[in-house]
Amino acid sequence: MPSMPQWLYQRAQLTPHRLAFETEHEKLSFQQLYVHVQKTASALRSAGVVSGAYIASLQGNTIRCAILTHALMMAGAVMVPLNTRLSVDELTQQIQDSGSQMLITDESNEEKAIKVGEKTSCTVLHISALFTAKTPLIDFSTEVQLNEPCTVIFTSGTTGRPKGVVLTYGNHWWNANASLLNLGLTQKDTWLCCVPLFHVSGLSILMKSVIYGMPVYLCEKFSPETVNHQITKGGISHISVVAPMLQRMMDALGEGKTYPSTLRCILLGGGPVPQHLLQRCLGLHMPIYQTYGMSETASQSVTLPPESMLEKAGSAGKPLFPMQIRIISDGHSAAVDEPGEIQVKGPTVFSHYLNNADATKQAFEDQWFLTGDIGYLDDDGFLFVLDRRKDLIISGGENIYPAEVESILNGFEGVQRAGVIGIPDTQWGHVPIAFVSLRHAEQFSEHALIDYCRGHLAHYKVPKRIYVIDQLPENASHKLLRRKLFAYYKQMNNQ
Ligand code: ATP
Ligand code: MG
Repeated sequence: MPSMPQWLYQRAQLTPHRLAFETEHEKLSFQQLYVHVQKTASALRSAGVVSGAYIASLQGNTIRCAILTHALMMAGAVMVPLNTRLSVDELTQQIQDSGSQMLITDESNEEKAIKVGEKTSCTVLHISALFTAKTPLIDFSTEVQLNEPCTVIFTSGTTGRPKGVVLTYGNHWWNANASLLNLGLTQKDTWLCCVPLFHVSGLSILMKSVIYGMPVYLCEKFSPETVNHQITKGGISHISVVAPMLQRMMDALGEGKTYPSTLRCILLGGGPVPQHLLQRCLGLHMPIYQTYGMSETASQSVTLPPESMLEKAGSAGKPLFPMQIRIISDGHSAAVDEPGEIQVKGPTVFSHYLNNADATKQAFEDQWFLTGDIGYLDDDGFLFVLDRRKDLIISGGENIYPAEVESILNGFEGVQRAGVIGIPDTQWGHVPIAFVSLRHAEQFSEHALIDYCRGHLAHYKVPKRIYVIDQLPENASHKLLRRKLFAYYKQMNNQ
C-alpha cells in the first residue's frame, strides 16, 4: 500500500484559507484547524499517546471533537469514538474490547466517563486539558500509510453486541473518493453534519471535508427547525440523514414546501425508507440519494441517483465506482429478482473486527464481506434491500420482511413509528406482530389499522396483533431496535 501526504497537513498547504468548519458560534479555516490540531496532537504526545495507541473518545458533535479526531490522526493514534447514549456498562465493555488506554471526554459526558474509568484501567482525560496544555509543538510525520488503522467504529448494535470495525486510512480515502465520483464537487459545496461523529456516517463527513477541502456545518444536536433554517438560508449543499430525521424535517417544513435548489444532495441511508416518505419527497422533486452502506464499508457503498428515483423507487441503487455487490442464495449466485444475502467487495471494506477473530472469519468469504442483509438485484442491476437476515420472519413457509410491513404501518394516518417482529406460533411456525407509537393516541383503532394492512399486504404478512407503546426502542442513529421488542412482547403477555 502506498503512502500519501498526511491529510490535514496537505490540506492546510493547499487551501489554507478555505473554511473547514462552521457552527452556530464559530468558524475555522483549514489553516486555523491545522494550528489547533498540531497543538492538540503535541499535548496528546506529552500525555503519553504514542503512535499506534488506541484512544477512545466520548464526546458530543463539537468542533473540539473534530479537532481531536484530526489530532489523533496526526499523532498516529487510532481513534475509537464511543456512542454517548450507551450505558456505563456498555461503554466499559467497548473500552475493554478495544483495549483503549485512554478515554477523552467533554463536559456533557464527563460524569459517565469517570465511572467508566473507575471500572477499567483506562485513563480519563478532559478534552479541555489538551486545549489548555502548554506543550512545545512537535513536527509530526507528514505522511500516512494507507494500510494503517485509522479508526475503530463500533457498529450500531442493532442485531447484537456492537463489533469494533477497524477502518484503515485506505478505507476512508476510498470511501471519500468513491462518494466524490458519484456526487461530484463544486467550490460552493458545504455538508451539514447532524448525524453523530461517533458513527461512520458522521465520521465520513469529516474525512470528506479534509480530503475535498470542503466546509462542514456541524450541528451539536439534531433539530429539524435548525437544520431547515440552515438549508433554507441557502448555504448547505449536502446533508446526511436517516429516514426518521428526514420525516421530522419535512414535518417541520410544512405540507407542500420544499428546499431551495442550493441543496443538491440529501444522502438518505442507514435503514429502510418508508414508502409514504419517499412518495412525498418524489412529489416535491427533492434531491434524494438513497444509499446503502454500513460501518464495515466506511459508510456509503451503493447509491441511487435522483434521476432513477421515479423509475426505481425504493431501490438503494448501484454500487459506487470502486465497489462490487453480489447476491448469494443457498451458496449460489441469485437470479434476477431473487432474494439472497448482499455481499460487498471493494477498497472501502474494513480490515477486520478488533480483537474478534471469530466474527472476522465469519464475515468474509474470499474478499467478499457478508453483510447479513437480504436483498435482490433487478434486471437492470439495481439493488433492493429487504431486511436483515436475522429479522426475517418465516411464516408457513413464506418469507416476511418486517421492513415491508413497517413501511405500510408507517403510512397509516396517526402512526408515528412502527416495529414488527415474528413470534412463535404452533400453526405457522412464526407470525408477525407489530408495535406502534402514535401521534394522537385517543384516535387509534387496532381493527382499522389491521384492515388497512389487509388492503396493502398479502394476508400472511398482516400483523396478528398491534400493540401501542409510547416510543419505539431505537439507538443513537435512530435505528429501530427490534430485538428489544421481543422483551416488550414478553412483558405485555406476562411471560
Ligand atoms: P450491528 O451490525 O451491530 O447489528 P448495524 O448493522 O445497525 O448494527 P451499522 O453499520 O451502523 O450497524 O448499520 C448498517 C446496517 O444498516 C446495514 O447492514 C443495513 O442492515 C442497514 N442499512 C443501511 N442502509 C440501508 C438501506 N438503504 N436500506 C435498508 N437497510 C439499510
Ligand atoms: Mg451490521
